[in-house]
Amino acid sequence: MSEKIFVTRSSMPTFEEYIEEIRPLWDTHWITNMGVKHKELESKLKEYLGVSQISLFSNGHMALELTIQAMGLKGEVITTPFTFASTTHAIVRNNLNPVFCDINPEDYTIDVTKIEDLITDKTTAIIPVHVYGNICNVEEIERIAQKYELKVIYDAAHAFGVEYKGKGIGTFGDASIFSFHATKVFNTIEGGAVSFKDEELGLRLYRLKNFGIRGPEVVDGVGANAKMNEFQAAMGICNLRHIDEEIEKRKKVFERYIDNIGNIDGIKVPKIQKDIKPNYSYFPVIFDSKVFGATRNEVYNNLLKNNIVARKYFYPLTNTFECFQGKFNVEQTPIALNISKRVLTLPLYPDLKLEDVDKICSVILSTPKKT
Ligand SMILES: *Cc1c(COP(=O)(O)O)cnc(C)c1O
Repeated sequence: MSEKIFVTRSSMPTFEEYIEEIRPLWDTHWITNMGVKHKELESKLKEYLGVSQISLFSNGHMALELTIQAMGLKGEVITTPFTFASTTHAIVRNNLNPVFCDINPEDYTIDVTKIEDLITDKTTAIIPVHVYGNICNVEEIERIAQKYELKVIYDAAHAFGVEYKGKGIGTFGDASIFSFHATKVFNTIEGGAVSFKDEELGLRLYRLKNFGIRGPEVVDGVGANAKMNEFQAAMGICNLRHIDEEIEKRKKVFERYIDNIGNIDGIKVPKIQKDIKPNYSYFPVIFDSKVFGATRNEVYNNLLKNNIVARKYFYPLTNTFECFQGKFNVEQTPIALNISKRVLTLPLYPDLKLEDVDKICSVILSTPKKT
């Protein structure tokens, strides 16, 4: 029996490389609280992402939750339901009301033509998602934000290393959140970061991730604990050395998928956006069952039968979660709802063998059709 193929597989340095990286920690016994590895990763990431300021976190979710808190947002926040639970939960856990905007059917990011209709006198921010590494229309969002004096926080969890017109994606908006979770393009095992420009915001973030401590005897904020430790940072330093090769390998997998299923009626494959340096983070496909002959769920089950674990990212939509029962009207985001029922994210990671991509594609294509 062949081995199971999962939707992703974490990038890791060699065992020896990681051991070398953490060896000095046994000299200092300084293993968390903004130590040398933390500082080194911070400065290397600033350079790699092309951003002026960055703050590291224990994970991407806490980075987002505490950034929202640091900005002191109130009232309503415009966002999309076509995302991971984290985006919506971070808003709700800050006692804000998410107002769901639909997505566009081209790249699945927020439909910027529908944002202004959702703005009320309670709106204080827009939290869009660069979903699958596709970037939002940052220029139009910037225009709207300026016109209505709104803050913009990008959920850039999928967009590590993506550039738009030669600029790091983390330079747009007031802040961008990255996730360094094991399953992402770049990982620190678990981890995350916020890029931003305002130094005041940086100070507030620093205190919020460290119990609100200002000085040895002064605690003037009610903070949480969301610090990245030295072992996580060391993993990041190692993985960052190989990130360009890893993205290059992803590209080969991505292109192999396109070669195999780029021209099949009833399967829509992802397109690289204009003016973008992509990171090839995901390979979402959308099935039109009337044309293709099988539904998303039938393809998913057929893959499972063949030991291939694809994922229904993003299904269900966050505005349909049980924990929000009766709170939101899913009819307000019909395109997101439609896409969520038809999308399947296929396995994509640097070491995925090209023969395995061929196999995955032939299983998809051989899914029994009801003609
Ligand atoms: C992974 C992810 C997050 C959360 O990141 P963690 O590091 O796992 O906490 C947030 N938003 C999106 C869209 C994600 O995919």
